[in-house]
Amino acid sequence: MKIAVIGFGAASVGFLKEVENENITVFEANKDVFSSSISGIRADGKLFVSSEMGGDLEEILLNLDLQREIINFYCKVADTIPEMGNHENSLELKKAFHRYGFKLVEAKFYHLGTEKLKIFLQSIYETFLQKGIRFVFGARVVDVGLEKNIVKIKYIKEGMEYTEEFDRVYIAVGRSGLKLVDLISTKYPELVVRNNIVDLGIRYELPNFVVQKLNDMLYEFKIKYQASNGLLVRTFCNNPSGYVVTEKYPSFVTVNGHSFQSKKSKNTNFAILVTHNFTKPFNDPNGYGEYIARLANILAGGRKVILQTYGDFKMGKRTKRLWNVFPTLNSNEYILGDLNLVLPHKTVKAITEFLEQLEMVIPGISNYSHLMYGIEVKFYSKKMNNDLVPNLKFIGDCSGFTRSIVHATAHGLLEYMKLKRELK
Ligand SMILES: Cc1cc2nc3c(=O)[nH]c(=O)nc-3n(C[C@H](O)[C@H](O)[C@H](O)COP(=O)(O)OP(=O)(O)OC[C@H]3O[C@@H](n4cnc5c(N)ncnc54)[C@H](O)[C@@H]3O)c2cc1C
Repeated sequence: MKIAVIGFGAASVGFLKEVENENITVFEANKDVFSSSISGIRADGKLFVSSEMGGDLEEILLNLDLQREIINFYCKVADTIPEMGNHENSLELKKAFHRYGFKLVEAKFYHLGTEKLKIFLQSIYETFLQKGIRFVFGARVVDVGLEKNIVKIKYIKEGMEYTEEFDRVYIAVGRSGLKLVDLISTKYPELVVRNNIVDLGIRYELPNFVVQKLNDMLYEFKIKYQASNGLLVRTFCNNPSGYVVTEKYPSFVTVNGHSFQSKKSKNTNFAILVTHNFTKPFNDPNGYGEYIARLANILAGGRKVILQTYGDFKMGKRTKRLWNVFPTLNSNEYILGDLNLVLPHKTVKAITEFLEQLEMVIPGISNYSHLMYGIEVKFYSKKMNNDLVPNLKFIGDCSGFTRSIVHATAHGLLEYMKLKRELK
């Protein structure tokens, strides 16, 4: 069987991990393994074992041994011992959050660091080459067509267009490859199971000392809160001693955060995200998120984001000067402004209520001088059906069923195991 895997990220690594002697070609849009992958090595390398987050597939969520196995594999290949955080044994903390309406998500964290993920990819790539897997780098797949028992893929490499045929294709393009998934789902709408969510919010930055205790106990504190207007608010991607960064898409710029094992800042940052759930006839939540992100860029005068203090955000007034807390984001990437001109009123209300309530559990967290960068968006992939067409499968984040390194890797591995059983 001639197999193609499109994209060389976490899901493909999982898929290829146990490969023996199958005929496999990997197409990757990035020019080489150094600039590839796992979301362009922008991922922070925060791995976790949890039955409550990271994806929606029960066979992964409920299989904590499988999640642990994936983490051990990453640590072994990257030759590192991770920093650790733990949500277990924190009954007092759980009670404190619960009292004020928050749910503390249970997870055990292992922080590899952005730089270690890079080492991981380089060395796993060498192993895959030795197994005889063919890699085509700099190849952006632009079309996938189903013809009888064959899947045709079209890709562009160095300005030239090529077509190749395969018996089975695994799409593993992550969230950066949503354009390809959109194209496939326009051609074959029956493959889409669901498409209705986008998360919008801000990146919050504050001095380490305010959340030092939490950072030491948990490394990553993940909480959920139902605001009085019904919206679900959550924290995401906490980076102790981390840095705020921008995430650049072709037509807009958003914010994100990360941290290194070696280089430390004096601030902690995390996202505060509000889930926006739409109903029919609207079916373009990603377009909605992109529109709001572009609005922030327009107000910031180009490919920049808006920075505002929490105090000014609360009072609905533009920030003109910072005081006390200083941004870790490069000064040429933001403009001081007013996020109230960008975010919908109900989103602003939900974020403000969330922070005011959180003040009861973590005194000092809603200080006037803390920083808010906007906007941060989490796009969800459409949920794709893997059972309809036997020779076209979606693995990892682009399938809509995973949202993390461990889950995407596990998804790839499970699909490879299914293939192996099929080939027997
Ligand atoms: C900034 C950032 C930080 C993150 N931090 C963490 C973290 O700390 N912990 C965690 O668990 N998760 C993190 N995530 C999420 C995590 O990176 C993803 O969940 C995971 O990488 C998904 O794996 P994947 O294989 O589905 O996609 P990816 O790892 O994104 O791989 C997809 C690959 O497909 C390639 N591709 C895209 N389109 C095409 C195309 N048309 N043709 C050919 N190739 C294509 C891309 O170049 C990419 O290499 C982070 C994500 C981002 C953006």
